[in-house]
Parts: sequence; C-alpha cells; structure tokens
Amino acid sequence: MSYVELKSVIKRYGETEIIHGIDLGIEKEEFTVFVGPSGCGKSTLLRMIAGLESLQEGSIHIGGKRVDTLRSAERGIAMVFQNYALYPHMTVFENMAFGLRIAKAGQDEIRAKVQRAAGILQISEILGRQPRALSGGQRQRVAIGRAIVREPKVFLFDEPLSNLDAKLRVQMRVELTRLHRDLRATMIYVTHDQVEAMTMADKIVVLNQGRVEQVGRPLDLYNAPCNRFVAGFIGSPAMNFLEGVIAGAAANSVTVALGGDKTVTVPCRPGQAREGAPVTLGIRPEALEVAGQGDATVTGRVLAVERLGNETFVYVDVPGSSDFAVHVAGDVRIAPDEAMSFGLPAARCHLFDADGRAFEMLAA
Ligand code: ADP
Repeated sequence: MSYVELKSVIKRYGETEIIHGIDLGIEKEEFTVFVGPSGCGKSTLLRMIAGLESLQEGSIHIGGKRVDTLRSAERGIAMVFQNYALYPHMTVFENMAFGLRIAKAGQDEIRAKVQRAAGILQISEILGRQPRALSGGQRQRVAIGRAIVREPKVFLFDEPLSNLDAKLRVQMRVELTRLHRDLRATMIYVTHDQVEAMTMADKIVVLNQGRVEQVGRPLDLYNAPCNRFVAGFIGSPAMNFLEGVIAGAAANSVTVALGGDKTVTVPCRPGQAREGAPVTLGIRPEALEVAGQGDATVTGRVLAVERLGNETFVYVDVPGSSDFAVHVAGDVRIAPDEAMSFGLPAARCHLFDADGRAFEMLAA
C-alpha cells in the first residue's frame, strides 16, 4: 500500500459529479504535483485529503490508516494556502507557534521548533514582525514555517506561489525543492503551471475534468505522453499537432500521409492502425529541425516571431495545424509573412488515434 492512498474517490456537489472515481497512490517522501487546467478538480482533491471537503464515495488513507472519517486536525497533515492565511494581528513567531499552542506544547518546545523552522526558511530576523510588514515572499515563508513546525506526515500545498512575482516564483521553486530534500517529507502540491510541475515533482498527476489522465515522472510524461491531452499540456510552448491519415502500417512503424504527397514513417507499435484512418501527428517545437534535414519537410507562412535573446519562437501558419510553433536556439533571421520550412524527425514524432490515445513509441 502506498503512503497516501486514494481509493475510488468521488466528489459531488449536489447532483453534479466533479471527481469521477480517482485511484491514486503517493509514496512516502515523494514530492507529488497535481497539475491540470483550471476547474479540473485538483484543489478539490487536495482539500479532500486535507479534510476540508467531504467525499461522497471512496476512501483516503495516510500511513495505512483511513483518514476520510477523521477531522482535519486528526489526519497528520499541514496545508499551505495560496493566500497565506496568516493571522494579521499576530507576530510571525506567534503565527508559527499557533498550532503548537493549540496542541498544548510546552514553551521550550514551541520556541525550539519555531526557531528551527525559521532557520530553515531564513526568516529568523523577522520573527517579531506582523504580517502587514512583510513582503509576499516573506509571508509565504511564514505560511510554510507554520506547516513545518507541526511536523506533519504530509504537507499539502494549494498553488502556494501564484501570488508571487515571476522572479520570486523561480526562487521559491528552488527553495521548496531544497526544503523537500532537507525535510525528507511527503508533499502534495497543486498547480495549474506545468513548469512548476516539471521542475519540482518526483511524480506528476495530470488531471482533466475530474479524472486522472496520466501519472509519471516529469520527463516520462514529456517523452511518452499517453494521450493527446497530456501531450498538449506538458511542455511549453505546447506540442504541435498536424492532422493526417494512416497510409500504411508495418510491424514497428506507422506511415502517415500529411497532405500533399508528404509522408512520415514513425517508429511505433502499430496497434490497431488501419489504412485510411485519421491520425494526429504531434511534434514538439524544440524537436523540429532546419529545412533539408528530418524525414519530411513542412512549409508555412510566418505569423509572428518572439525573440528572447537566448532562443526564438516562430509561429507559423501550417496547413492542417493551428498555432504551429518552432523553437530555434539563439536568434534566426526571419520576419512575419516570409515562408519558413523545417524538417520533421520521424523518431521524435508522436501519433494519436481518433480518440486521442498515443501509439506506443519505439526508439528509432
Ligand atoms: P481546480 O483546482 O482544478 O481549478 P476545483 O477543484 O477548484 O478546480 O473545482 C473543480 C470543479 O468543481 C469546478 O468545475 C468547480 O466549478 C466545481 N466546484 C468547486 N467548488 C464548488 C462548490 N462549492 N460548489 C459547486 N461546484 C464547485
């Protein structure tokens, strides 16, 4: 049994079911990220683990013990919220000590635990301040400190970095990863930001409309998404999709006709591939090659160019696709309305059937 276990969990608001029977295991000391578009149910799932939402069916277990029948305070969890939820009239020290005081811990224990957490989070200098005299980043650290002092079995984070500016978000991402390593804690983290998921998670759970689409390590999801949804969600900018038709299948490959007389033979298990069936070819912006290389050449009119200095994104109007993006390292001499050609390397193409299921990729 996994350390945190969700079994056939269903959530309904009135008649409306929003979590449709989720089974999930989270291992001890793992950093798990729930990621998915807004409204997919990730906060609801986290809040059910926390005991802030009831479930209508199924069960939740932590450390082998059923907890969905217990009150939040009895579950051994600590939650960090997006809006920090600090007590405005209390000092940082008192905010961090509050849970321990409720639990009737002794003065010496409280002081030791708060000081240790403050040390880890580098906020020892501000223990006497009130929240209004803190920056957003400092408030978020206090909220995390309040969780650390409780020494929970599981830390739960609900979009904790969303209110921070971009630079601070990057910094806190690194710090939370370090904190996870230092504390060797089990953490579950909710975000809609796939970059946070990719950079922080040991394991990502991709959610969509109240269902789990795929569970796996970040690069496994990036390299082998199991369906079109995950393929389009993980990776930035998103994977490009080109509509095509199956022109033939062999033991270890499928040949796709992309319109005109262009074909690509993609190394993959053919599964139920039928000649003439529609298929979607996926290719990441960073997998495209310069014109003349690759296994098929695609040409389109340049719509927009984004130059970031170290890299350039070119958006191209390609027949059979919308929002086709090309990633180029460094700069490239190209302007809107010009024609751009690039090569598709067959070994880096993904194929999806009419239901969006991925064909199993094979190494070239
Ligand atoms: P996410 O965190 O992925 O953005 P939520 O878990 O907040 O999504 O919400 C999932 C779905 O449940 C949404 O469609 C939302 O509208 C619905 N929902 C959330 N809270 C309530 C509520 N109290 N009553 C009815 N529907 C709700």
